[in-house]
Amino acid sequence: MTIFWHRRDLRFTDNAGLYRALKTGDPVLPIFIFDRNILDKLPNKADVRVEFIQRSVEELAEAYRAHGSDLRAFYGKPIEVFAQLRDELNPTAVYTNRDYEPYAIARDLAVKELLDEHDIPFRHFKDHVIFESDEVQKQAGGPYTVYTPYMRRWKKTLDTRMSSFAGEKISFYLKPYPTETYADNLLKESSPHPVPTLADMGFKPTDIEIPPKEAPAEVIEHYDKTRDFPGQEGTSRISHHLRHGTVSVRAKVRRAMKLNETFVKELIWRDFYSNILQEFPRVVNESYRREYDNIPWINDEEQFEKWCEGKTGVPIVDAGMRQLNAIGWMHNRVRMITASYLTKHLLIDWRWGEGYFADKLLDYELASNNGGWQWAAGSGVDAQPYFRIFNYESQQRKFDKDYRYVKRWVPEYGTDKYPAEPLVEHKFGRERALRVYKEALREA
Ligand code: FAD
Repeated sequence: MTIFWHRRDLRFTDNAGLYRALKTGDPVLPIFIFDRNILDKLPNKADVRVEFIQRSVEELAEAYRAHGSDLRAFYGKPIEVFAQLRDELNPTAVYTNRDYEPYAIARDLAVKELLDEHDIPFRHFKDHVIFESDEVQKQAGGPYTVYTPYMRRWKKTLDTRMSSFAGEKISFYLKPYPTETYADNLLKESSPHPVPTLADMGFKPTDIEIPPKEAPAEVIEHYDKTRDFPGQEGTSRISHHLRHGTVSVRAKVRRAMKLNETFVKELIWRDFYSNILQEFPRVVNESYRREYDNIPWINDEEQFEKWCEGKTGVPIVDAGMRQLNAIGWMHNRVRMITASYLTKHLLIDWRWGEGYFADKLLDYELASNNGGWQWAAGSGVDAQPYFRIFNYESQQRKFDKDYRYVKRWVPEYGTDKYPAEPLVEHKFGRERALRVYKEALREA
């Protein structure tokens, strides 16, 4: 029997590794592990992500049961779970989809070594992205570090693959994997195996509201015109589904290609940052442009606290932070504004902000979060130049003119309960940032 290990691919259809496992003809045992290496370290026991994953695993188990099979969900450390599975079941092989984050790479290597001892193959597949970094390279070789040429090459690569491969190979890129084959192959089990509950794992429920897996077609059709206005429902809200693989990125790209070009480009940003992480894993801790690690951050803890709580006195920054704290998601335009305010006006290290977002975002994806933060700080690939500093007042005028977004998240705005002055005012903050950045970069 072959084990299929679900991780960031919590779905049954259009799943590259699962499809490959089923194609072997061997019975497939699907599993999921609630990883104690991660869960035990989470300080907040009411965590929206744990709840989202737990619910998604329940849903996945239901889908398997509807096909006469069952998912086994474990609560433990992957290496221990695999030692037990190896000894009890002696599987023919373990199949999975690739995960590019440093923790996942180390975890997979340890599992592979454990299986190697018994000559059990560990096979992994691309599923989380359309292209891995070695598939979209410069003509002369080497990775792209600028988005626009990357995007062009990405599109060309998709075009050539789509036109030169027929049938099955096209489906490898963009078509759903047929569900019918699953029913014939899945391991039949008589009794259902319960998925651990939140309480079993020491967690509490939250009041999380999960947006649907698919945005209405009219939202995507108008995406290029509405996506920058945080007071409107103008974006897809599918980021957490993509992050946990409850939807297939291939299906999303296919749909986007029919509906809106700008939306395709946003999905390409996701691949771009994933590719950057694959090529330059050092960005996890360091500035991609090393000279930016020379900036003498002020790192005022009190100001950081106020930023986290949405109490800076800058309405659009406060609205964004409160939206994040309340629902685990923040509009992209406001992610850029809050990140800019932290790294430029407050002169706080981008890593502090990145860490706070990582704790709070339901769609937290290391590659995109790190990319977004380093873009805002100016230290990343294809980042905005440091001297272009977001003016929060003109951002407000342009993107939330009627204060609809601000009033929704900061109800006391406009009353005497709201701070009369921002923590750091724009002109002063801008000039200070320009001076500090310039000096640090010159000295580096
Ligand atoms: P849409 O606007 O509907 O876009 C569709 C999809 O395209 C998104 O779901 C996402 O998968 C992808 N996408 C869009 N913009 C970007 C982008 N700039 N970079 C990478 N992918 C993109 N995105 C995350 O998924 N996880 C993160 O942890 C994350 N952290 C960020 C931190 C900062 C400082 C910034 C500026 C951006 C960050 N983003 C992150 C990117 C972006 O803000 C979110 O993907 C987007 O807001 C999610 O909402 P949506 O699904 O409605 O997006």
